[in-house]
Amino acid sequence: MNINVAKTAGFCFGVNRAVDIVYELLDKGEKVCTLGPIIHNMEMVTELEQKGCKAVDRVEDCPADTTIVIRSHGVPMSVMSEIDALGLSCVDATCPFVKKIHNIVKKAGAENIPVLIAGNKSHPEIQGIVGHCCGTCYTFNNNEELLELIKIIPIEKNNDVYIVAQTTFSQKEWKKCLKTVKKVYTKAKIFDTICKATSERQEEADLISGNSDLMIVIGDRHSSNTAKLFDICKGRCPRTYLIETAKELDKDLVSKSRSIGVTAGASTPARIIKEVLDTMSEEIKSSETVNETESFEAMLEESLKNLNTNERVKGVVVSIAPNEVIVDVGRKQSGFIPADELSNDPTAKPEDIVKVGDEVELLIMKTNDVEGTIMLSKRRVDAQKGWEELKALAESDEILTGKVASVVKGGVIVIFNDNRVFIPASQATASRDDSLEDLVGQEVQFKLIEVSQRGRMRRIVGSIRAVLREQRAAQRAAFWDTCEVGKHYKGVVKSITSYGAFVDLGGVFGMIHISELSWTHIKNPSEVVNIGDEVDVYIKDINEETKKISLGYKDPDANPWEILRRDFPVDTVVDAKIVGITTFGAFANVIPGIDGLIHISQIANKRIDKPEDILTVGETVKAKIIAIDFDKKRVSLSIRALLPVEEAPKAEPVAEETVASTEDEVVASTETPVVEEAPAVEEAPAVEEAPAVEEAPAVEEAPAVEEAPAAEEAPKAEEAAEE
Ligand code: SF4
Repeated sequence: MNINVAKTAGFCFGVNRAVDIVYELLDKGEKVCTLGPIIHNMEMVTELEQKGCKAVDRVEDCPADTTIVIRSHGVPMSVMSEIDALGLSCVDATCPFVKKIHNIVKKAGAENIPVLIAGNKSHPEIQGIVGHCCGTCYTFNNNEELLELIKIIPIEKNNDVYIVAQTTFSQKEWKKCLKTVKKVYTKAKIFDTICKATSERQEEADLISGNSDLMIVIGDRHSSNTAKLFDICKGRCPRTYLIETAKELDKDLVSKSRSIGVTAGASTPARIIKEVLDTMSEEIKSSETVNETESFEAMLEESLKNLNTNERVKGVVVSIAPNEVIVDVGRKQSGFIPADELSNDPTAKPEDIVKVGDEVELLIMKTNDVEGTIMLSKRRVDAQKGWEELKALAESDEILTGKVASVVKGGVIVIFNDNRVFIPASQATASRDDSLEDLVGQEVQFKLIEVSQRGRMRRIVGSIRAVLREQRAAQRAAFWDTCEVGKHYKGVVKSITSYGAFVDLGGVFGMIHISELSWTHIKNPSEVVNIGDEVDVYIKDINEETKKISLGYKDPDANPWEILRRDFPVDTVVDAKIVGITTFGAFANVIPGIDGLIHISQIANKRIDKPEDILTVGETVKAKIIAIDFDKKRVSLSIRALLPVEEAPKAEPVAEETVASTEDEVVASTETPVVEEAPAVEEAPAVEEAPAVEEAPAVEEAPAVEEAPAAEEAPKAEEAAEE
């Protein structure tokens, strides 16, 4: 008697993951609904039902207080929208391999490329895939159907076309279909989406059934992959039987066979496979000699060992110490997990990883019968489980979240699923200047870029930058969709040049020109902002072609012209600092950002030749605001308006004897009226009678005022002053 149990028999990664998710939720006390049975196995579905997991056909049948679990087959996009719309809690357990197909067909739809889908159109996985294709897609179940389809579908031979397959599609049939597609469509893009778990299972079934005179396939009759296994085995071994449980096993057939092969579908629990093997064992025991029975039992034991993965045991945590965790593994020896065998995360504490009473799966590292101890590892079992998931996730292009554990030579280590993911320095941050040390202890999002194994060496490489890049691209797209002139943003100053500051608005950079940073003259943007500052800005201008954005930054409340209007009306007396002197007057600073002109005629209450005869740059004088032109941004000041009117010099009284002295002297004295007509005396009343403002026309008419139109030009005066 020879019995050969397939190593690949039983739950695949995706089904295992989905079932684990349901059990976890049930263990937390949640009510769970699955859209359709979580796996194609009635026994298991019944067991789950008894624990509170209900399988429903429609989203609307899920009670509001339950969590919907999407099974590994996935669902159409419309179903996800329905769940969202109803506000139901949902956990998506779609197998990452199936998700990968969703992404492919979604991309094809977006690019208007038709998709050919190999698979059974009535299977939920195919319905889910079709439901993610927003363009045109066609399904076929085998090469014959494909040939018929090609005759009627409107895809030209030189058109782009994608081809994908159901994860459980037969490898043999797929190869035939590809041959056809390659002949017809020269630009076909082929995605081999058949799950490796499926193809490995099929290959092994093919091999075992070819060497068996009885082949038993265990699995649910509704399971697509079980049905495929059955077809493959039947083709190689005519005595192939599909059974769902041990009860269906034909014991007669078993006892009459010399070589029995056993395999099982991806949704067949290990428990059922074991029951079938036990039943076989009973039958063989009763029909064979003692020696044969012993050898069969040894074989069975070996097969079961394979099935349960070697050297793994379950144990219950008994106590936790800082350096180890004591576990009861149901043996006479005492089990312990050294602290460094608990987790791959060196920062995690034992009490954060397990609690007393937890049941944990462990790997036996060493048994010491003399001491009566078993050294166990939790992290290796977790890493092995995580490894399987990592391999699947690497295919799916999913964004993952992990914690940065340490900085190592050339990058950082992120712990994900108890595996150490190496992120090279070039892939760890958005910019090379960002510090790697700052990442330690942080939760980061990353994508897997390599998951490979050579011998016992595993290589897991990820990229944080790939996620950041995608996020920025999405932010950029959203920004360009919604940006408009005048819209306000909060941004972060990323760099500073002599002419302005560059601000990150969220994936897009805009520039604040130096003249926009301040109402007053500044020499460098760093006088106002620093790298890393968060700033409130608004869009002043957008150049759609060059994608350049000019930003405004000045605070309108700090506009000096508004301050002047509010707090410094005409007639206000100010302390003004002389900032520049010209031939026609002097410029004086009224308030920060505004210089006014004191025309030469307004500097003193007497005629002066040059402003510098009275004023010097840097001195502060009292001056009256005598005129403001807000449109032209001009301020006229007067010192003279504050000065007392200078009295005209009085004529000297003429002595009588002087008048009478000589004829010449008499002439001189008669000339004294000339003194009365002296211009200084005549001008003086004008000062008295005319208010200073009325005299201002002299200022307004002065060409110099016209040459100094705005506050922005004032710096010239400053420069002149400096010179
Ligand atoms: S795709 Fe593969 S791993 Fe995923 S559920 Fe299907 S058979 Fe299992």
